Amino acid sequence: MSANDSRIPLRCWAEINLAALERNLKHIRAALPSRLKYVAVVKADAYGHGLPQTAARLMHAGADLFAVANTTEAAALRELGPGWPILVLSAVLPDEDRLLAEYDLTATVSSAEEVERFNELGRRTGRPLAVHLKIDTGMGRLGVWHAEAPALYAKIRASEFIRLDGIFTHFASADSDSKFTRQQRRLFLETLRRLPGLDRQRLIIHADNSAGLETLQRRGSINAVRIGLLQFGILPHPSSILAAVQAEPVFSFHARVGLVKRLPRGSGVSYNRTYVTTRDTTIAVVTGGYGDGIPISCSNRAQLLIRGHRCPVLGRVTMDQTIVDVTDVPEVAVGDQATFVGRQDKEEITVTEFAKWAETIPYEILCSVTKRVPRVYRTTLGT
Ligand SMILES: *Cc1c(COP(=O)(O)O)cnc(C)c1O
Repeated sequence: MSANDSRIPLRCWAEINLAALERNLKHIRAALPSRLKYVAVVKADAYGHGLPQTAARLMHAGADLFAVANTTEAAALRELGPGWPILVLSAVLPDEDRLLAEYDLTATVSSAEEVERFNELGRRTGRPLAVHLKIDTGMGRLGVWHAEAPALYAKIRASEFIRLDGIFTHFASADSDSKFTRQQRRLFLETLRRLPGLDRQRLIIHADNSAGLETLQRRGSINAVRIGLLQFGILPHPSSILAAVQAEPVFSFHARVGLVKRLPRGSGVSYNRTYVTTRDTTIAVVTGGYGDGIPISCSNRAQLLIRGHRCPVLGRVTMDQTIVDVTDVPEVAVGDQATFVGRQDKEEITVTEFAKWAETIPYEILCSVTKRVPRVYRTTLGT
């Protein structure tokens, strides 16, 4: 299906450019030291891009491993095919344990209790369970506190039915505090040195998310990266190093003009009349609202593109419709494409700009596109 496929009229849709996704992975790889493994993070339905389509394309593009949030996502990914290691990033709940074995998943380990549970599971199924040991170097979320990592590492090694496949940490402020990130990286590398008999050839050792790449120069035994946002073409923060990767946006978000009409000066627009026209105004009523994932915080703030022009949102965003000022774009007509995120001619609204209007971060925008919004996949390499 393509965006202009007339069999399926689209009111509000997201376009996912899989060819750009593939190019992004290749560009990221090219910017990294060679022989680094690529862990593709595809949690939360691949950041709202759609798990099966996204993961299939990333497999094709040469991802080495996949990471998801939980066993449900991991099971859905495993249904696509055997072979790719799938790392479950979040804590596994005790009643989910059996899914790890059933779907051949790799669990994240942060505690002795988990080691015991997973070892028991391995014993029951007669097959060692794969794990990555996570070390907390300052994120304060999952992971064993770094000072206690050697003890947990020893416990894993002494567990007959657990196979240690990797070790990792996670940065707390990679997009805002490179000094702290360097400190976390140093602490991680120091902690690794305190783990006896560490097989650096076999183990996958990783720390960097997208923003972390900026401080990757001193990588020690780190031999993999764990990338989400950047593969979707979004910079986590302004960064010349990350910009040099030249990742292109994969996601764009569109609706249509459903009605064009004139309102006299002094008219209220939308619920609660938070905007009152200051001149005779032509409005366009666009067929997407917070029911589609346009945050209500965009009210009176966001812009969208119609016929290549930036048109300001007037008044409250409503569940199914958003109103914009098109007084200065007289050629606007019913049926026109209206772009919340994406490019029209020379104008572009990035997820980052849109997120600023919504007073949130790009990650949340992508995760908030709702179920009723069809994802339309572009697949050819040329586009
Ligand atoms: C989501 C996530 C990532 C990916 O982060 P990006 O900033 O999207 O690259 C990496 N590691 C962990 C533990 C995560 O939860």
